[in-house]
Amino acid sequence: MNLYDLDFASFATLFAGWNIAPIHARTVWRWLYRYIPSDFSSLPDGLPQALPARLSAETTLELPQVVDTQVAADSSTRKDLLQLADGERVEVVIMRYRHRHSACISTQVGCACNCRFCATGQMGFVRQLTASEIVAQVLHAQRTLTASGLSLTNFVLMGMGEPLLNYDNTLDALRRVCDPRGMGFVERRITLSTVGIVPGIERLAGEDLRINLAVSLHAATDPVRDTLLPINRRYPLDTLCSALKAYTEATQRRVMLEWVMIDGINATTAQAEALVARFASIPVHVNVIQLNPTPEFDARPATPEAVDAFIAILDRAGIPHTMRQRRGAPIAAACGQLRRRSLLEEAI
Ligand code: SAH
Repeated sequence: MNLYDLDFASFATLFAGWNIAPIHARTVWRWLYRYIPSDFSSLPDGLPQALPARLSAETTLELPQVVDTQVAADSSTRKDLLQLADGERVEVVIMRYRHRHSACISTQVGCACNCRFCATGQMGFVRQLTASEIVAQVLHAQRTLTASGLSLTNFVLMGMGEPLLNYDNTLDALRRVCDPRGMGFVERRITLSTVGIVPGIERLAGEDLRINLAVSLHAATDPVRDTLLPINRRYPLDTLCSALKAYTEATQRRVMLEWVMIDGINATTAQAEALVARFASIPVHVNVIQLNPTPEFDARPATPEAVDAFIAILDRAGIPHTMRQRRGAPIAAACGQLRRRSLLEEAI
């Protein structure tokens, strides 16, 4: 049995079944999530004498194997390809900034949403990740940074997949990494990004988890959003905006809007005006990011002039925004470029 596959309740049940006092279960759990050990040689002191031998004999400490790594020339961004138990693979991107270190985590293998510009969408849906497979990516990122004397300060669910279409596993994973008995990750340093799954947003509003919500908006009129993000036909902008308004009221937290700048399609002043009009009374922060090229989407990033004109309209309306830096493009690790095939192709 792999201990990293267990949540705290099953872990405690295992120890109880061995007649080990609950306090020892808590000690070992904390050790697991604070040190992320790969074997039992560093177990803490003070455990019942027979426990280390039993743990070594009956359990394992396995995280997905790293089958390939690519590091950007300036070493600020690194992409690891992790192999899961059934052979499926997910990519974890680890980004080092001056004062923080962040990871981009996946929630599904592939994705069913089929956003036109996204490489994951272009590959289709393969399967849900389990809660443990999501947690394992966070542990992997933390362990990798620890090896360089650093620590994971933030992570975003912006890798492959749509977290709100894998709601229960995603939330279980977040609760596990935030659990103060173990890793104790700070909730406010986690961002969940969704394409706009309205029932998921409504459910999330009622959770006692103070994470950040980002919405991949990308267009502020239905005809344009319909063509870029097919999910918009199911949850059109009026419905989405009502859900976001309710979310901000329930949580008292600003929502982040993601906006990928695509030349001539959504990087227009008309779209900026529509964005301002729709979000006049909803507290948002707009993250503007240039399109990263993907194989099956024939479009270009916006011109610098178009970006300036777009941002000027947000400024005039007093909508806070950030122009996000592109990271990882040279190693195909940038937003929307995560795709199982890419690494393999490059490796061959
Ligand atoms: N399904 C979630 C999270 C995964 S995508 C969501 O849609 O938000 C993470 C972010 O990368 C989203 O904002 C997505 O729109 C963006 N993205 C996808 N393809 C991109 C591309 N080619 N260039 C830039 N950003 C892209």
